[in-house]
Amino acid sequence: MSQAFDVIVIGAGPGGYIAAIRAAQLGMKVACIDEWKNAAGGPAPGGTCTNVGCIPSKALLQSSEHYDHAAHHFADHGIGVSGLSLDLPKMLGRKDAVVKQNNEGILYLFKKNKVTFFHGRGSFSKAAAGGYEIAVQGDKPETLTAAQVIVATGSSARALPGTPFDEDMVLSNDGALRIGAVPKRLAVIGSGVIGLEMGSVWRRLGSDVTVLEGLPTFLGAVDEQIAKEAKKIFDKQGLKIELGVKVGEIKVAKKAAKSSVTLAYTNAKGEAVSLEADKLIISIGRVPNTAGLNPEAVGLKLDDRGAVLVDEECRTNLAGVWAVGDVVRGPMLAHKAEEEGVAVAERIAGQHGHVNFNTIPWVIYTSPEIAWVGETEQQLKARGAAYKAGTFPFLANGRARALGDTTGMVKFLADAKTDEILGVHIVGPMASELIAEAVVAMEFKASSEDIARICHAHPSLSEATKEAALAVDKRTLNF
Ligand SMILES: Cc1cc2nc3c(=O)[nH]c(=O)nc-3n(C[C@H](O)[C@H](O)[C@H](O)COP(=O)(O)OP(=O)(O)OC[C@H]3O[C@@H](n4cnc5c(N)ncnc54)[C@H](O)[C@@H]3O)c2cc1C
Repeated sequence: MSQAFDVIVIGAGPGGYIAAIRAAQLGMKVACIDEWKNAAGGPAPGGTCTNVGCIPSKALLQSSEHYDHAAHHFADHGIGVSGLSLDLPKMLGRKDAVVKQNNEGILYLFKKNKVTFFHGRGSFSKAAAGGYEIAVQGDKPETLTAAQVIVATGSSARALPGTPFDEDMVLSNDGALRIGAVPKRLAVIGSGVIGLEMGSVWRRLGSDVTVLEGLPTFLGAVDEQIAKEAKKIFDKQGLKIELGVKVGEIKVAKKAAKSSVTLAYTNAKGEAVSLEADKLIISIGRVPNTAGLNPEAVGLKLDDRGAVLVDEECRTNLAGVWAVGDVVRGPMLAHKAEEEGVAVAERIAGQHGHVNFNTIPWVIYTSPEIAWVGETEQQLKARGAAYKAGTFPFLANGRARALGDTTGMVKFLADAKTDEILGVHIVGPMASELIAEAVVAMEFKASSEDIARICHAHPSLSEATKEAALAVDKRTLNF
């Protein structure tokens, strides 16, 4: 016997679980299917974000930052630390507890909103009268039907051809978040967000980290001035980043006494280099999860990357089938997935769902953090836009001095004629929080003068945002 719903959501990551809750809030009968298992084999909704992405990485970034501060920066505040030690199993246990709280929180939210949760793999069986039949393969096989299906099956780490992840020596983000002992030498392939965040965690805990990047430029998507500033700081911290390398053979030697990974690569000067490490993290991008979905059963179209093909409004080629988050085009970010999930639920309910792709913030949670919204200076130059720029360094911000973290800057880019803000770029303390003001400003089409005229609390890091806005008009007050 099949169970009938108004909406079936496949995947309970940030895209799927938020879509399910919003659809239920709008009065629909909703099922959400997710196959992720916790260590005990039970359900672990929340997807990549909760289980092996945003949440555990931020838990470890926080713990490792505390450790780094105690080891290197407390002395600046007149605090002496002796006998500092690292209890890695406890640190990893705390991270797992944070993940569990989030898993349980989502199950609670499903109950509260009357979303029926199914633990197992959901796949298309066939088009049914007025909708679709979805098979759930889990502890108890189920058949569900609905007129509306939202695919939110997310993404998985991309492996390097010929070097599969074993999560012991060759690690994806999953293994990188649960290394049992601090590796003396850690190699990371890929200097994107995940590579830099994972590299930062283990460097702070004592690893000698080398990051190998194939592209010749560092953080190509980031504003050049901000990326250059960040690279300078990472170099000073001892994070070794080699750009323009070509990775060759990777050999894993597993030995009872001591295992190692040897990477052969050609550096930017064309020299052959051999690098030996205790662990290797590969973070070279992510691939959409569509393999278990059986899209052929209903003729759901995928693009050449294997992502579900959607339009601007997340509609697929099939009436009543939608797709959101990492499994479709666009940035692989949890908040982008959530926004799409909400918008799709509202469109199904006949409302005007809306996602503004121009104001999606980006954050890299290294220290210093890097955050931005809107266009970079190089993008503005490329499209021939007339713009004004203003920057303000945290070095001249009272709160940053009090914190003892004066690295980086805030940068504003505004239209030369109308002064409308076109982009805001930050490298520095709490950039992830500061960027929210810029997102609001851009959503409301504010000018840099609008921000410059707003009263910001003193002393606060947000004064650097106001000062950067003032700098657009060449009238900073504190620099
Ligand atoms: C290390 C790391 C750190 C990150 N940090 C950040 C960050 O700080 N900020 C940020 O915005 N983003 C971050 N991301 C990216 C973020 O995790 C993703 O963009 C986000 O999780 C995408 O959400 P989603 O709902 O589309 O998919 P996912 O979170 O991948 O969830 C998809 C879910 O669907 C399930 N599923 C797949 N196929 C099926 C099926 N057939 N049946 C049933 N269930 C299925 C999966 O098991 C999974 O639970 C990070 C990613 C990584 C790897």
